[in-house]
Amino acid sequence: MHKFKRHSVAQQRTRTRQFYQRKQEAVMTNCNSCNKQSPTAFCEQCHYPGIEDDYQTYLDLLDEGHSRHQAAVLSGWRGAEEIEEAV
Ligand SMILES: [Zn+2]
Repeated sequence: MHKFKRHSVAQQRTRTRQFYQRKQEAVMTNCNSCNKQSPTAFCEQCHYPGIEDDYQTYLDLLDEGHSRHQAAVLSGWRGAEEIEEAV
């Protein structure tokens, strides 16, 4: 009985820690695309498979001196406003 009680307290602590970690992440991050608060780098609305790769390519192209529009077109990054305007 003693052992069971100790075990359950430890579990509770772990759960509390996980909860606060998740809460902190959710407050810390904004969507890289629409800038809304999001628990991830991209909110559910903007996210599509491979968006992280496209976004990284987009940033690399900007570094190389391309304009935001050029970088968006070349990378296939669908989060940039410029793409929506062009389509
Ligand atoms: Zn978004």
